Amino acid sequence: MSFVTAESKPVTRTGVALKRTNREGTSVAAVFTGGTIAVSANKNSNVVPVLTGREILERVPEIAKYLPTTRVQVHDFATLPGPHMSPEMMLTLAGFVRVLQEHTDGIVITHGTDSMEETSYFLDLVIGDHVPIVFTGSMHTSTDAAWDGGRNLVDALAVAGSESFRDSGVLVVMNGYIHAASEVTKTHSMRTDTFRSPDFGSVGTINTLAMDEPRRFRAPRTRHHIPLPEDVELPYVELLQTYAGMDDRLFVAALKAGAAGIVIEAMGQGNVPPGVVNGVARAREMNVPVVITTRCMSGPVRPYYSYEGAGRELEKLGCIFSPYLSGPKARIKLMIARAAGYSDAKLRELFPSA
Ligand code: ASP
Repeated sequence: MSFVTAESKPVTRTGVALKRTNREGTSVAAVFTGGTIAVSANKNSNVVPVLTGREILERVPEIAKYLPTTRVQVHDFATLPGPHMSPEMMLTLAGFVRVLQEHTDGIVITHGTDSMEETSYFLDLVIGDHVPIVFTGSMHTSTDAAWDGGRNLVDALAVAGSESFRDSGVLVVMNGYIHAASEVTKTHSMRTDTFRSPDFGSVGTINTLAMDEPRRFRAPRTRHHIPLPEDVELPYVELLQTYAGMDDRLFVAALKAGAAGIVIEAMGQGNVPPGVVNGVARAREMNVPVVITTRCMSGPVRPYYSYEGAGRELEKLGCIFSPYLSGPKARIKLMIARAAGYSDAKLRELFPSA
């Protein structure tokens, strides 16, 4: 099995005992990938993820107290800060998790919060129906009095071990809320209540330390499965956010660099400044798919207005509108779909219009 270290050098670890527990207990695999939950430092010292899975678990005695029948298998996958996670590493992680799920009742993945919304969505798309797969992390380090990692880890283990969350898509558990990976986003750079699903709300709640069981309100709004071979090459897909007065320079540069797709975080309901239209038209002439999302925090996109650069013009150019999917998530989806060889018609089905 290939793992990735903080320095992004693959290393090999073996000897992982995989076994489901008997009916008396629940077996949950905890896969540690880094992030603030793996940081052990004071404000001005070396603030980088270094802790192993065991070292993190040792800081959470509440697991034994509140989840006495849960057996946790520890897997050190990496010690990466969130911004170091790449789509290639996500693909490796997905392969690892796919094997693990055959041998366990649920999986928890600790991850840097900065890119958690992308990695969790990547796994949501490439892994089909499955045991609960739950991402978690922390906003504060374990050396900080406000540490939220222990509570998040206990909650994530409880959700991963819960039958109610099988085949619910990949989940993100933070601050007592259970979110669908396809809907969640990090909304605040520092607060512990940063993870929200602005369009649809959470799919459930959990507060294990208050003896509150996981509650499931609903299923994720949409789910897609795009099977990918593990050795597939992931293409370069660009994400560009629009701004007042933007022109087509970045579009031309992306096309020159060989972009296999471009996602635009357009304004409002899906409109771009007039200077951008030429770049979009060039992409479409080259048969490069262009997906329209919004730079707004929430709300759908649609071809509504008909002025220069507005939604209707983008629709005529063959752009795909992607309501209710953030720019970073739409980029992950387009990248995976292009890697899987999806053609234009099949691509459009992946981005339903409502
Ligand atoms: N910058 C950190 C990271 O994403 C934040 C965190 O883990 O919460 O690794």
